[in-house]
Amino acid sequence: MKTCDLHTHSTASDGSDTPSELMALAAKVGLAAIALSDHDTVAGLSEAAAAAARLGIEFIPAVELSCQFHKGNMHMLGYYIDPEEGSFLEVLSQVQAARAERNPRILEKLAALGVPVTMEEIEAISHGGQVGRPHIARAMVEKGYVKDVSQAFDRYLKRGAKAYAPKSILAPEAAISAIKGAGGIAVLAHPFSLQARDLQELQAIVADLKSKGLMGMECYYSEHSPEFTRQCIDLARSMGLAVTGGSDYHGKAKPYIKLGRGKGDLAVPYECVEELKKLKYGA
Ligand code: AMP
Ligand code: ZN
Ligand code: FE
Ligand code: FE
Repeated sequence: MKTCDLHTHSTASDGSDTPSELMALAAKVGLAAIALSDHDTVAGLSEAAAAAARLGIEFIPAVELSCQFHKGNMHMLGYYIDPEEGSFLEVLSQVQAARAERNPRILEKLAALGVPVTMEEIEAISHGGQVGRPHIARAMVEKGYVKDVSQAFDRYLKRGAKAYAPKSILAPEAAISAIKGAGGIAVLAHPFSLQARDLQELQAIVADLKSKGLMGMECYYSEHSPEFTRQCIDLARSMGLAVTGGSDYHGKAKPYIKLGRGKGDLAVPYECVEELKKLKYGA
């Protein structure tokens, strides 16, 4: 079966592979197509596109935007965005400013808790990309405060934990319209993370997003059980949404997730790319 991976992160955000390394790995594991979907930035796309072209692998430019949501986490993927569209870049610079404003607040809390981390230590890990909590977590591991990234989140960084600081983020409709404005296809990322009570609640959330311009749903995902994947596909089909999927590969930042394979049994059919292309370019 021809497979793809439509959800990955590079050093432009909180992944550990450079865009070029990521494309080389995609070729090595035999993916037919790969999307780079860094958090809140398009900085890795041109390097990735060039590397993919050299390797003869199909590349899809993408982005993952964090959205305001009353529970769980809502992330919006944007596929085939034009990374140079002006109002889209304006939205990105706003969300990047929100990150830059938030990180020092987390560091202040960590210092007060007796586990100080400096911005310099974090930048040594982030290599100039968009800084997120995973970088702070890795610095905490390196300093011996916690045994691994998961423990850093559990004890300090997850929502509600002692060093958590909120960041102001986009309303879902703003994320969807920014993606559309850049010629992209808006796709709801990893629906499990919304923490909907049941399928009915999930359907209501997705219906609301669809009324705001949502065009697809990430059904195949590393953390989705086979049963939930099937339920997501049925939901997407019943609502006329494209079905997509990806691993959310982060390299060393999430060592248990393999590119294209997730926790081992993920396989995203290439048809997902064809569905996105149909939406982008027409049948
Ligand atoms: P941020 O963009 O700074 O809000 O951080 C979000 C990133 O943190 C995403 O890549 C998540 O996958 C990662 N993340 C969130 N919660 C956890 C957790 N409990 N353990 C490990 N990584 C997490
Ligand atoms: Zn991430
Ligand atoms: Fe995400
Ligand atoms: Fe992601």
